[in-house]
Amino acid sequence: MSSSLLTCNDLHVGFTLENEFVEAVRGVTFSIDEQATLGIVGESGCGKSMTALALMRLVPEPPGKISGGRIRFRETDLLALPPQQIRMIRGKEISMIFQDPMTSLNPVYTCRHQIKEVILQHGITPVDQADGLIESILAEVGIPEPKRTADSYPHQLSGGMRQRVMIAMALVGNPALLIADEPTTALDVTVQSKILDLLLDLQEKKRMSMLLITHNLGIVGDIAHDVMVMYAGMVMEYAPSTVLFDEPLHPYTVNLLETLPGIDTRKERLTIIPGEVPTLRNIPSGCPFHPRCSRSMPRCAIDSPPLLDRGNSHTVRCLLYE
Ligand code: SF4
Repeated sequence: MSSSLLTCNDLHVGFTLENEFVEAVRGVTFSIDEQATLGIVGESGCGKSMTALALMRLVPEPPGKISGGRIRFRETDLLALPPQQIRMIRGKEISMIFQDPMTSLNPVYTCRHQIKEVILQHGITPVDQADGLIESILAEVGIPEPKRTADSYPHQLSGGMRQRVMIAMALVGNPALLIADEPTTALDVTVQSKILDLLLDLQEKKRMSMLLITHNLGIVGDIAHDVMVMYAGMVMEYAPSTVLFDEPLHPYTVNLLETLPGIDTRKERLTIIPGEVPTLRNIPSGCPFHPRCSRSMPRCAIDSPPLLDRGNSHTVRCLLYE
């Protein structure tokens, strides 16, 4: 039977902007089972990355603040931990990779130096065995010349290689949970699928759980066991991946699916969702998606839809299903 590795309950994260506190994450609840993958999907500015940063306790404070909720990792309440203890979990038990490897890799140090820092900080191996571990983890992530790559600076590597080094750095401590925030968005299409295949292989081999954040619903279909669709900082739909793709309920999820290439081969151009994601200070009243929704009704601008249980572990936040 699967058990939860991480549970996040009613998470609220916000920022103080010009003396006004505005919420970027508004009551988000989810869980990730041992060795399972949860995909969080939505356009930029929907609160996905802020949710992930909160799990790592990396929300910049101030102006940011985790203003409510509970995050439990195994038996530990992450929001109650003092900073030095969260640093021991971050990078060891829970690791994160980002869209742009240059945000995690320091351009002035070699890859070896940077991976060694992680190893020594967490006491992953004795210092005299660190070099061997660095080269073996680089080989494990598919780097053909691990010794040479270890001694390279990030700018000497291609984007795909940099991403592999970042994955190596994230996995060197054998984390139980890997958070991957748009891990392939900055890469060429041919490299993207190789990196996704690598992540899938490593997940299976290392028996870890994964939180995959992406704007591309197509990617999560191949990888995630469960999918959570976010909009305006809220969960709009949540379901096992197969259920969501068989029967997407929320108009926003349907729109995201319509934007995928290859769904309709007669389409000459990609569909785009009309309108724009609202800014934090201008979240619409009622259903936050109502200005862009093709199925909007008059009451959608007034009533806030609750998250409705549709059975099959499928929940949706839309007044059409009340
Ligand atoms: Fe569209 Fe109304 Fe449903 Fe919101 S509640 S998604 S506006 S139909």
